[in-house]
Amino acid sequence: MSGVFNTSFDFAKQADKNDELAHFKKQFHFPKKDGKDVIYFCGNSLGLQPIAVEAAIQTELQSWRDVAVGGYFGGTNPWLYYQDYMKVSLAKIVGCKEDEVTVMNTLTVNLHLLMLSFYKPTSERFKIIMEAGAFPSDQYAVETLVRHFGLDPATAIIEIAPKPGEKILYTEDIIDTIETHGNSLAMVMFGGMNYYTGQLFDMKRITEAAHDVNAIAGFDLAHVVGNIPVHLHEWQVDFAVWCSYKYLNGGPGAVGGVYVNEYFASDVRTPRLGGWWGNDEKTRFKMEKGFIPKTNAGGWNISTAQVFNMVCLKASLQMFEEADIEKLRVKSLQLTAYLEYLLHQLPNQKFEIITPVDSEWRGAQLSLYFTERGKEIHDKMIESGIIVDYREPGVIRVAPAPLYCSFGDVYTFYEILRDHF
Ligand SMILES: *Cc1c(COP(=O)(O)O)cnc(C)c1O
Repeated sequence: MSGVFNTSFDFAKQADKNDELAHFKKQFHFPKKDGKDVIYFCGNSLGLQPIAVEAAIQTELQSWRDVAVGGYFGGTNPWLYYQDYMKVSLAKIVGCKEDEVTVMNTLTVNLHLLMLSFYKPTSERFKIIMEAGAFPSDQYAVETLVRHFGLDPATAIIEIAPKPGEKILYTEDIIDTIETHGNSLAMVMFGGMNYYTGQLFDMKRITEAAHDVNAIAGFDLAHVVGNIPVHLHEWQVDFAVWCSYKYLNGGPGAVGGVYVNEYFASDVRTPRLGGWWGNDEKTRFKMEKGFIPKTNAGGWNISTAQVFNMVCLKASLQMFEEADIEKLRVKSLQLTAYLEYLLHQLPNQKFEIITPVDSEWRGAQLSLYFTERGKEIHDKMIESGIIVDYREPGVIRVAPAPLYCSFGDVYTFYEILRDHF
């Protein structure tokens, strides 16, 4: 792809002119630096605020103000069904049936709830495979889960680490590990993408390998959702969870997303921790004894819809509907390839891109490991109005989200590196 790029600013200008998704940038609020909009490459941590969010919140405030408890059945968007308003968009984004997706709680809470549904350790089959260096919250969740069952994390958790001196995992190694543990393996719980390196994992093949040994395959899609289209149903993934405040722009603490394969979701016997919101609407308000879960992913809902945690996501997903996740991915591939190309035109740079070179196995993010001056470069970017994040020991994560980042933005990042370092 690099053959199509060049280092002139005109190239960036022309690419933005040709970009049919460019107008979405105007639908976001940007923080300001010296009176100018910043360039925002941190959508992998917290997405920007869609302009439409404020009016959407006002709508719910108005329902609450005007009809109070009547808002559950009346008002503009009856709150009784609020968790369902996001199903259509989310099903497209994660590639599943509408009955397989719901929103509730937040990511780590949902990870616990879903693992409790799917992890049934026995004396023979009790191990969980995960990636070494997973996001800390996922590590803590799996560690405390196995302790909850009276097991020792040292024997119950199998972590897969890159080969010495390498940063990324090979699918073959993941599959070998799954096969090695075979009958003792209860579950594979992997990140869909590693938050640090930006490596996308082969969820299809990992799921197949897990199923071949009769283990469950679950994924944390925090860095995948809204970044890369996936096909959870087709791949027969058992469960997945994600947060909505990164690429989905749902706002800090936004409601989390949950996918449960229909095989389990449609079966009321699938174990779960229940609450009234997961009960069938037809009998929910009878307040009777006996939990009758909804026969879809909503059967995992526990508490009353957290409307003000959901409303921003609902507004934001409207943009994904208009833009189309497949088209966003096409733009994202170009933006990130352009960033990579420009970085390679900087002969004096002492850095390594630790994200996979093959664009099929990464999303928007490139993780740049600077062997020298990493922190200094990061600080210069911030001072210049470019928001990127920094992780010791020298990694700058740059994530040009295609909804609100332009080729010009990527060019500016390159210019600063070129002219100052
Ligand atoms: C962002 C992120 C989290 C955060 O979890 P919360 O429960 O939303 O705080 C957890 N896991 C991964 C992999 C993440 O990227």
